[in-house]
Amino acid sequence: MTNNASCKKCNRNLPTNYKYKKCESCRNIKIENTKKVVVGTVGAFGVISSLAATINLGGKNKK
Ligand SMILES: [Zn+2]
Repeated sequence: MTNNASCKKCNRNLPTNYKYKKCESCRNIKIENTKKVVVGTVGAFGVISSLAATINLGGKNKK
């Protein structure tokens, strides 16, 4: 019995008994997007916290 599954996203044929429903490249794209979202979120927080730190330091330096 052949179990020819195809990628849910691009319909590319998947290897027999492939354990994912999406092909390798589609999964990689998803992983890349997830990384970008995480980096973007961390980056935004980093900018905000560094701005806050700059403002705090600026206030403290004025003796
Ligand atoms: Zn695919």
